[in-house]
Amino acid sequence: MKQAAQQTRKKPQRSCVACKATDDKRALIRFVRTKDGVVLCDKTGRLPGRGAYLCSEQQCFDKARKANLLDRALKTKLDNDDYDRLVSDFREYSQEVGKV
Ligand SMILES: [Zn+2]
Repeated sequence: MKQAAQQTRKKPQRSCVACKATDDKRALIRFVRTKDGVVLCDKTGRLPGRGAYLCSEQQCFDKARKANLLDRALKTKLDNDDYDRLVSDFREYSQEVGKV
């Protein structure tokens, strides 16, 4: 079966910008800077643009926010409003990831 072949292939690994832990791409939350310069919490993992990953841990988000790690990783400037918007998406999404 085609699917079985796909499963044996190495899964893409990504690392969290806050704690540097490496994990399966699907276990991490992706943030993306779109071509319009807007940073979004990318629930599909497929939005085009520059991406950065965080664990689904609140402490990693907090660390990234405090140290402007997402700003750096995405080469943009995020203000408090951006982070407030992202954290609510992040919380919602991290609960979904936790269920899997
Ligand atoms: Zn982390």
